[in-house]
Amino acid sequence: GPAPESQKEAQAWLEQRGRKFGLFIDNAWTEAGETFASTNPADGKELAQLTQATADDVDRAVQAARRAQPAWAALGGHGRAKIMYAIARLMQKHARLLAVLETLDNGKTIRETRDADLPLVARHFYHHAGWAQLLDEEFPGHRAVGVVGQIVPWNFPLLMLAWKIAPALAAGNTIVFKPAEFTPLTALLFAEICVQAGVPAGVVNIVTGDGRTGEAIVKHEGIDKLAFTGSTEVGRLIREATAGSGKKLSLELGGKSPYIVFEDADIDAAVEGLVDSIWFNQGQVCCAGSRLLVQESVEERFLKKLKARMDNLRLGSPLDKSTDIGALVDPIQRQRIHALVEAAREEGCEIYQPAACDIPAEGSWFAPTLITGASTSAAVAQAEIFGPVLVAMSFRTPAEAVQLANNTVYGLAACVWSENISLALDVAPQIKAGVVWINTANQFDAACGFGGYKESGYGREGGREGMVEYLVPVSEDARPALPAV
Ligand code: NAD
Repeated sequence: GPAPESQKEAQAWLEQRGRKFGLFIDNAWTEAGETFASTNPADGKELAQLTQATADDVDRAVQAARRAQPAWAALGGHGRAKIMYAIARLMQKHARLLAVLETLDNGKTIRETRDADLPLVARHFYHHAGWAQLLDEEFPGHRAVGVVGQIVPWNFPLLMLAWKIAPALAAGNTIVFKPAEFTPLTALLFAEICVQAGVPAGVVNIVTGDGRTGEAIVKHEGIDKLAFTGSTEVGRLIREATAGSGKKLSLELGGKSPYIVFEDADIDAAVEGLVDSIWFNQGQVCCAGSRLLVQESVEERFLKKLKARMDNLRLGSPLDKSTDIGALVDPIQRQRIHALVEAAREEGCEIYQPAACDIPAEGSWFAPTLITGASTSAAVAQAEIFGPVLVAMSFRTPAEAVQLANNTVYGLAACVWSENISLALDVAPQIKAGVVWINTANQFDAACGFGGYKESGYGREGGREGMVEYLVPVSEDARPALPAV
């Protein structure tokens, strides 16, 4: 596992703060109010108590952000970039501590937090510091939206934070940010990093709490823009709640992404890619390749290799470097996934799980699972499972592959595997998805816009398109000032 020092460091960080946190408003910590627990899903043990922010708390955070916004915008792109580079460097400096804390809070493996999440987070801040510097040249006649409310889920706590906060800061906005109630810890360490990096008071405010805190952010009149990542269900509620409010809105929602394997694909590479696509982060990934569409002529061969590969996946302690499958974020998720898989079994589907997969007695786990024999309309073929469960179907022709790929309400991502590049390039644009990867999966870059079609939401995060979400034309009136508190 990771050096015991970094585990000790994470526990010491929690201890030093009494395992109890207030809210981060105006660069200061409030007294902890009514609290809730965040637990380690790998052993069920409590890590810390967090404050359930009330509507009044949210109001204080919004007021702080409003007071800070004009000076933050006036600092200019170069001034903001200097601070953002400092944030990026501090994220790298504390990467081990952040990675361990993320693994403890979420249950995802240390290999992922250390090798994927943290490098992508730092890269996102570096990249967007660059955008801050280019702002006047690249977006003449634009200004920051103002105060943004940002709400994220638990599957990539820090990465979702970076995707939200970095472009908002670069554009000159101030922020009220809410991490998910299951995984608030790294956002609180990030708050400390902001202070160290010289972020002025009120620019980044972090409020913890569940959906009620989220609702208070959504409804607050002092918020100019909302950026939400989470379920399609809550996204719809937010869209309804903000209709006619004049708030700018971007939504990154669910997915049921197809993973298409043609008969002329490099089968071994496609199997490896699929392991990454569906079992990365226990399948708790919005763009997980959760629907395998494999050409009939290679179906048997592909599934045989896939099952052999599944037998080699190691489930266990997320802090162990050699673990492939960590814990699910919460027992609630395990129950949801279990119910969907059992319903498929009752409908006559075949369920494959590695025989030698030992599930620890404590904590929240689910074995890597392959479902075959599901009808295209079955719940497991249509609903986002958000767990380590792959549903396999077959097709005969490229046209049928496209038809099946587009046969869901979602449109977030897709993978196409074929050594025939003309075929791959012909199929890719026919798939209604925000991103289509060819002969690879899960490639993310801060310079590239990510987002969905249909019920996967709208708006993009990353790159130039992502910056647009945090800017408005200067001709657009600022919202009237709020009454002072
Ligand atoms: P969720 O919608 O339940 O919660 C997401 C966030 O919204 C949490 O912080 C939660 O506290 C808050 N929230 C809950 N109810 C709210 C309300 N009424 N008003 C305002 N905020 C509220 O989603 P989840 O189960 O935590 O996350 C999983 C979902 O996120 C999946 O559907 C997944 O696909 C999606 N996701 C999408 C992307 C993307 O980029 N498209 C990325 C990651 C996750």
